[in-house]
Amino acid sequence: MKSLLVFDFDHTIVNGNSDTWVVKCVPEKKRPDWLRKPYDGQHWNEYMQKVFSYIGDQGIKESQMKQVMQSMPYTPGMVDLLKFICQNKDKVDCIILSDSNIVFINWILEVTNSNLAFNSILTNPANFVDQNHLTIESFHSHHCPHCPDNLCKKKALDDFVTDQLKAGVQYKKIVYTGDGANDLCPITGLKESDVAMVRKGYKLEKLIQKLVDENSGSLQASIVIWSSGEEILSYLKKCLEI
Ligand SMILES: [Mg+2]
Ligand SMILES: [Zn+2]
Repeated sequence: MKSLLVFDFDHTIVNGNSDTWVVKCVPEKKRPDWLRKPYDGQHWNEYMQKVFSYIGDQGIKESQMKQVMQSMPYTPGMVDLLKFICQNKDKVDCIILSDSNIVFINWILEVTNSNLAFNSILTNPANFVDQNHLTIESFHSHHCPHCPDNLCKKKALDDFVTDQLKAGVQYKKIVYTGDGANDLCPITGLKESDVAMVRKGYKLEKLIQKLVDENSGSLQASIVIWSSGEEILSYLKKCLEI
């Protein structure tokens, strides 16, 4: 039986946030004041659509945006980790679960030829409607009160696992790697045999610590704290016996 590796993208595979990195495209390299109002926590895609419209209206072309996005740094050790996964696809399936978008993720994976590591990339669909304008859509709709309206990573993961089961693929273990607030919901859905790999010093670590302190029983999975891809790699070798 295979194991399933699940990776968040921003601040996990790449060492930054692709949705804020993209504003480096415009000559001032930052958002105009009218776009700097605080994001309300619920309608992220609508906010990003405004950012993409603004960038397009500045005459920035797809090729320029691609060049800027492909300059994003990977998290230390992550490229070697993805290579290792490519070499062990007989033992693991691997997916990305991200609130970025498919255009950015494909561009960035292309730089290191890492696309082959992933069976599936679950993220918001996006495409260019003309030379300059990127449009983004919701990944799905859901009823989870904890997550932004375009994506609940728990539902996305549950749906993926259910579809795989229907196709005859059952996983012995899920290893979920992430850093952010929207990774908490799927981690609370993991089982005792599963593992949550939590990035040290980021929001998710604080949220997990709070759940541990409350001792509410909502965390079943083992928790492992990581700082680099090397650490994840050596843990995977041990825990998956590869
Ligand atoms: Mg993240
Ligand atoms: Zn949720």
